[in-house]
Amino acid sequence: MPDGAMTAQPDLAANLDTVRARIAAAEIAAGRAPGSVTLVAVSKTHGAEAVAAALAAGQVVFGENRVQEAAGKFPALRPANPGLRLHLIGPLQTNKAREAMQVADVIETLDRQKLAAAIAAERDRTQRCPDLLVQVNVGREPQKAGIDPDETEAFVAACRGSLALPVTGLMCIPPVEDDPRPHFAWLAAAARRLGLAVVSMGMSGDFEAAIAEGATHVRVGSAIFGARPAPAAPIIPA
Ligand SMILES: *Cc1c(COP(=O)(O)O)cnc(C)c1O
Repeated sequence: MPDGAMTAQPDLAANLDTVRARIAAAEIAAGRAPGSVTLVAVSKTHGAEAVAAALAAGQVVFGENRVQEAAGKFPALRPANPGLRLHLIGPLQTNKAREAMQVADVIETLDRQKLAAAIAAERDRTQRCPDLLVQVNVGREPQKAGIDPDETEAFVAACRGSLALPVTGLMCIPPVEDDPRPHFAWLAAAARRLGLAVVSMGMSGDFEAAIAEGATHVRVGSAIFGARPAPAAPIIPA
């Protein structure tokens, strides 16, 4: 399997331009202010060379799924790129909270009380905390991370209240088989009700729909960096 970073790099600046143009067009079509949507370039599985190429093309906001992978790629890039902002967008184990908070500027996947408590404890210890988004399981999928939609308001209140966590928005990944638009509309409305400024939704296949429904952040991977290597096939016993 060739390194995705090496295969993706020649097209990367052009892909970025295309995605930026599509975002700008979607902002205009939705009557949104130009530049009101932040592009989070999702670099998971692609090497530090691909991230460096995106930085050279003016991209400074990135998303990664895994703490370990992010910690391997990003700290070395920070001194030369003080504007760099890293969002963690993958499910976060409680025992990885400390490392996640060291590596990330934004954690988009706060989704349960135990993780909130771990983050608050680490914040108390270090006196610093990334911005936090609450991930909502908008499709109520049993296998998917995220707080139940019905519990979102109470959970956000608890995080902002007694724990005093810097929750700035909501994030979702709608079910792949659904029309995402009702889910996007629900998330944007919930954020508005809760007075939360950030709405992270939309990926390569549906970011224009997300912008139409009020996304402030879209998380785009393959449309920028190219296809990711498929996960290894499970070994099925004969
Ligand atoms: C991988 C990933 C993305 C980007 O997906 P693409 O379809 O490659 O754009 C966005 N959000 C999350 C949470 C992801 O895991």
